[in-house]
Amino acid sequence: MNRRTLLKAGGLALCHVGLAEWAPVLASPVHALSAARQTLALTPVHVSWDRVIRTTVGLRPHRDSGFVLRAEKQGDRLLVHNYGHGGAGMSLAWGTGAIAADMTLAQESRRAAVIGCGAVGLAAARQLQRRGFDVVIYTATVPPDTTSNMSMASFTPASGLIAPEQRTPEWDAQFHEAATTSAEALEALVGSEYGVSWIDHFQATDRPPPPDDEQPDGPLPAFLTTQRSREILGPGEHPFPTRYVVRTSSLRIEPSTYLEALVRDVVQFGGRIVIRQFDTPADVMALAEPVIVNCTGLGSHALFGDEELVPVKGQLTLLSPQEGVTYRAGRRSSARASGSPDVTAVGMMPRRDGIVLGNTQERGVWSLDVNEEARQRIVTNAMRFFRATPPR
Ligand SMILES: Cc1cc2nc3c(=O)[nH]c(=O)nc-3n(C[C@H](O)[C@H](O)[C@H](O)COP(=O)(O)OP(=O)(O)OC[C@H]3O[C@@H](n4cnc5c(N)ncnc54)[C@H](O)[C@@H]3O)c2cc1C
Repeated sequence: MNRRTLLKAGGLALCHVGLAEWAPVLASPVHALSAARQTLALTPVHVSWDRVIRTTVGLRPHRDSGFVLRAEKQGDRLLVHNYGHGGAGMSLAWGTGAIAADMTLAQESRRAAVIGCGAVGLAAARQLQRRGFDVVIYTATVPPDTTSNMSMASFTPASGLIAPEQRTPEWDAQFHEAATTSAEALEALVGSEYGVSWIDHFQATDRPPPPDDEQPDGPLPAFLTTQRSREILGPGEHPFPTRYVVRTSSLRIEPSTYLEALVRDVVQFGGRIVIRQFDTPADVMALAEPVIVNCTGLGSHALFGDEELVPVKGQLTLLSPQEGVTYRAGRRSSARASGSPDVTAVGMMPRRDGIVLGNTQERGVWSLDVNEEARQRIVTNAMRFFRATPPR
């Protein structure tokens, strides 16, 4: 694998890659025995309180029955709803935007209003423009002041999206189409201009990971699971403090770069952005455009009275950027089922604006205040994880 740096244990090589925390382990006599199998060398993340630069909070727009993607004819106008993407809006926006745009094609007019300027509204606007529409985005806020900017964000199209018992064949079909279209669209945007890239993801675990074909599939088509390029590394083959790690390859999105690039594209293709708050559906339907696409995310709770929409509060803490950290790593919660505070879960993703640690899921919490207990736990867990030594 050329994207993976392999290195035999040894002092000289360790100095070269700067493995300050993990070096003593790699250099130990016991570890040297496993050198024949080669140990994956990764720059460890330096986690300390003086490297914390900020904590961000966002409210995921969750519905237990999944996103809303449907058209309503109101006289000679068409209102298309496209909201409620939970923890997957950054992943699914191009796909649900394409489906929403296709729903408008029977309309004679090629003038459209998009309400909302997060990831979902911006991608819907671009999909409408690609189909020949003149688009105006009306929105209360623009990037960087959207939930989308507070996202982790990676391609996780099935994350926190729907309660399993509420899935229907119709919803699954819409979801499969949206996920497939989105994956293709994001893959085509890979590069620094849009802030989209492939990254190696290491999931640490003490349990022997099941082979590929035993992976739970959830609502996701197999070819879109994050199991791409899956590889299992055992004791002695990796520097993480668990017996195994599962390496996969996943798509990373840098929200600030990505959303600014989409704003620029919408404007470049003749779109306009108007700052405006809507308080009632009548306000929305009073717009001049005959086609209206509602991409207000959690805003649809108040604006369209969708009581099923609930916030799932998510919090991230960023460390200052660190040279050489070019992989993503984490360990799943072992305490989620018991409801007790989780002292094991870790999530780390490097971005241009910092090393992101997180994240949290607090259902039904509308507050944008930082949860200090969660902040302490996330940073402390990461400290333990990146300072610990691998089992021998
Ligand atoms: C911590 C965290 C981590 C996440 N990680 C991921 C991830 O890894 N992958 C992923 O795919 N997703 C992730 N998500 C979820 C993702 O961020 C959301 O699904 C996505 O941002 C929703 O996008 P949106 O455009 O629908 O909403 P928003 O970004 O909230 O945009 C809504 C827009 O509508 C406007 N608006 C709302 N109400 C009104 C109104 N009444 N009048 C006028 N304008 C209005 C707002 O001003 C805003 O411009 C994460 C979220 C959080 C918080």
